[in-house]
Amino acid sequence: MAASGKVAFVRLPPLPTIGEIIKLYNLRAEKQLSQNFLLDLRLTDKIIRQAGNLKNARVCEVGPGPGGLTRSILNAGAADVLVVEKDKRFIPGLELLSEAAPGRVRIVHGDILTYRMDQGFPAHIAKKWEDDPPDLHIIGNLPFSVSTPLIIKWLEQMANRSGPFAFGRTRLTLTFQKEIAERLTASTGSRQRSRLSIMAQYLSTVKSCFTIPGRAFVPKPDVDVGVVHFTPLAQPQIQQPFKLVEKLVRHVFQFRGKHCYKGLEKLFPEAERLELIEELLRSADVDPTLRPAQLSIAHIQALADAYSRLCRENSQLFDYEFREELKQKRHSHRRSDSSIKNSSI
Ligand code: SAM
Repeated sequence: MAASGKVAFVRLPPLPTIGEIIKLYNLRAEKQLSQNFLLDLRLTDKIIRQAGNLKNARVCEVGPGPGGLTRSILNAGAADVLVVEKDKRFIPGLELLSEAAPGRVRIVHGDILTYRMDQGFPAHIAKKWEDDPPDLHIIGNLPFSVSTPLIIKWLEQMANRSGPFAFGRTRLTLTFQKEIAERLTASTGSRQRSRLSIMAQYLSTVKSCFTIPGRAFVPKPDVDVGVVHFTPLAQPQIQQPFKLVEKLVRHVFQFRGKHCYKGLEKLFPEAERLELIEELLRSADVDPTLRPAQLSIAHIQALADAYSRLCRENSQLFDYEFREELKQKRHSHRRSDSSIKNSSI
């Protein structure tokens, strides 16, 4: 395989255009699979430039479809391009591309949500976490339907150094609906600040690259699209388990418009709520009247450390879910209501 050495000849030979590939294989876009294609190779080249130098690199491309972005990746000199595509109609077109770039394209017909990327590349390319990132990139014009679950899964794997991050600080260059791209990159105090902003930014440097207008895609989606680049941090800004941070941040943002303590207090069972929320905020030194969007990563870090300490002191605390308590209460109310009714019959 070319990836073991250098790629001597990088430009692809003449091929049918992406538009011709779509016609040739009758590739009507499937709404269910969020298929919006990029046919303009100048635009796909521009996306690929955001990934950095791909000469002799290894790349996993998510959802190559008719292969526009794949061509730009190959033209940038990548030596080993592993494409994961769910829709089998695209496989013949991708095989054509693979023949034009012998030994440089590997095609997986599968679902990126379950694909084991840690098994897709050789172990020897791994770098230590603290070292420079490995020469491995994840790139994709992501299907809207999977982009949020996928980035959350990858952030968790980033925290656990598993999946694509078993190879070190693998970089990602991905497209998202503009609104999601804005949330990922939103700074403290901005309107788009959300759970995603905190979860992405405590683990990685997140860069908003540029916006692609919806009209650049075929068919045209209802929204514009943002290109976002992620480089995992050598030292995550919060040193607590991902699940703990996720639970805390979910509570912070559940009442976006209210003071942050409103959501945070729901981390604690009703009987001890007042005492524990006071202790959490005092020990993290966070002003309870800040709004969720005003909390910086440093605030969340202090809250996560304080919450972790409380969980260590009370082993059942982390499993507590206030919605469960609410459900149980409603259930027991209903039961006592019906027993009153039955006794009066
Ligand atoms: N990369 C192509 C381009 O830029 O023109 C196609 C992008 S299109 C927005 C998304 C692609 O992801 C489609 O080819 C679709 O079939 C594929 N896809 C959708 N869900 C997928 C999944 N779970 N795993 C892998 N591919 C998926």
